[in-house]
Amino acid sequence: MSKRLILLGAPGSGKGTWSKIISDEKGLAHIATGDLFRAELTAETPLGREVKSFMEQGALVPDELTIQLVEKALTDESAVNGFVLDGFPRTIPQAEALATMLEKRDKAIDMVINLVIDESILIERTLSRLVCIKCGQPYNTQNMAPSVEGTCDHCGGDVVHRSDDTEETLRKRLEAYRKSTAPLIDYYRARDLLVTFSNDGPPSDEMRRRLFSIIDGAKG
Ligand SMILES: [Zn+2]
Repeated sequence: MSKRLILLGAPGSGKGTWSKIISDEKGLAHIATGDLFRAELTAETPLGREVKSFMEQGALVPDELTIQLVEKALTDESAVNGFVLDGFPRTIPQAEALATMLEKRDKAIDMVINLVIDESILIERTLSRLVCIKCGQPYNTQNMAPSVEGTCDHCGGDVVHRSDDTEETLRKRLEAYRKSTAPLIDYYRARDLLVTFSNDGPPSDEMRRRLFSIIDGAKG
């Protein structure tokens, strides 16, 4: 079984949802850069203030800040059995920094799952999504709403639209994705780590089965 995974895909392609499903099922740490950033914002650290100014503009946080936060999360006790990276790496320099971080500890990435989704579905889905501000559980208004409106099923926290989920910031994120992140697909394909997963519908049992057979498959 693959234990050190990366989920790739355009913003809104379902990385958060699937990372959480995989990490829950397999007992892996879910390392989402969005969550790491938000934790720094909440704690109002100097790093958090720096991160905030980039997020408010819908811009990507610079590599060196992101790499620092990810290394901290990777070396945390919770990641000892492995991890699912969600939102990192976003650029080739980040991918190279990640490889170096892991090499230092005699580890490597086992598998990179590329989530593929039609862009019109992606836009619709992004504008409908919600998140629990307390535990990070993703929801959406279309087919995965919490049972009580505005309240998390898991922890009772507030479920809200993310402030950066507007059409304008989404278009900026998609543009940044095409420029910086799409080259990672070729980067990981060349290293024989890439698998593709078509994610056009809401999570179903059949999709879970298909995804877990990929994760548990020959590369494990
Ligand atoms: Zn919650």
